[in-house]
Amino acid sequence: MTTPMTDSVLLHFIQTTDPDEIADLFQAARDLRELHYGKDVYVRGLIEFTSYCRNDCYYCGLRCSNHSAERYRLSVEEILNCCHHGERLGFHTFVLQGGEDPYFTDTILTEIITEIRRQFPNHAITLSIGERSFDSYARFFAAGADRYLLRHETANETHYGQLHPNNMSLKARKKCLMDLKEIGYQVGAGLMVGSPFQTAEHLLEDLHFLQELQPHMVGIGPFIPHVQTPFSTFGNGDLDLTFRMIALTRLLLPNALLPATTAVGTLSPKGREAALLAGANVVMPNLSPLGVRKKYALYDNKICTGDETAECLKCLQGRIERTGYSMNMGRGDYIHLPF
Ligand code: SAH
Repeated sequence: MTTPMTDSVLLHFIQTTDPDEIADLFQAARDLRELHYGKDVYVRGLIEFTSYCRNDCYYCGLRCSNHSAERYRLSVEEILNCCHHGERLGFHTFVLQGGEDPYFTDTILTEIITEIRRQFPNHAITLSIGERSFDSYARFFAAGADRYLLRHETANETHYGQLHPNNMSLKARKKCLMDLKEIGYQVGAGLMVGSPFQTAEHLLEDLHFLQELQPHMVGIGPFIPHVQTPFSTFGNGDLDLTFRMIALTRLLLPNALLPATTAVGTLSPKGREAALLAGANVVMPNLSPLGVRKKYALYDNKICTGDETAECLKCLQGRIERTGYSMNMGRGDYIHLPF
């Protein structure tokens, strides 16, 4: 694909339903990912360590107003057990994800990160714990965290306000992302496709924002309603549009690490394979203890909440290989372009 990526071209691909055009788009995305990362698909072990959250995002099942959510938080020992289990399975990245849980103060988190870093000197530690101050992020980085996932959710101010209560702002979210970059993290932004009130123009703004931020990772998944949220009656995000957004992100950020998300796999049995074929190159199987997985319910019918991680991994490996790619259990760091 040699077409320059002007706004009208991007908008056209956001909206197209022409199968030939879509096939060309996905081919171009695959060519670029293979140029930079070959056939490798990188694996991250996801540890969902707390389902408590002080925020009230309208889309998320963990929102504080959802009083029927069963809450849990893992102890330091349980988190370390997950890491050891992951190490035995060959993982080299641990992703600590959770709601914004005030129990996990900077001091407690710094202790946890320090201990993981001490016991696993060769593993990447990724955090995904929401908005914190520059100083907190800097402390976690100094303690040994290398990467940080914080989806921007939408780059349009008005749309951000339609998805979040008034005490949250796009400005604050962007500042966090800039702080994380400045500190030296490999940074992941991202968005939900098909979130309520989203338009094609919003998605174009998301692509602009990604171009400006130049994140190392971008998580893109469809919105899926959760029954105990104000958005319970909205429909699922469009999967085909999700794949086109992954492919367009690959074209704009050729060396980004892009996950084939759990949400994509939840909406279609072959969703993650399709995401890989549209330019994604990361998968994130669940390393959380089996007993808590169903309680980390961001949205309804989330997959892989009942399988042992080892089974999930075997299943994923088969899926990856059947798409013509290979599973890589290494750290899978971001590759900087030589120019
Ligand atoms: N508290 C952390 C982790 C949030 S969960 C943070 O703020 O970054 C990770 C992601 O799940 C969110 O960023 C959001 O994009 C996604 N998510 C939440 N609810 C969802 C829903 N109903 N459908 C699809 N994705 C959802």
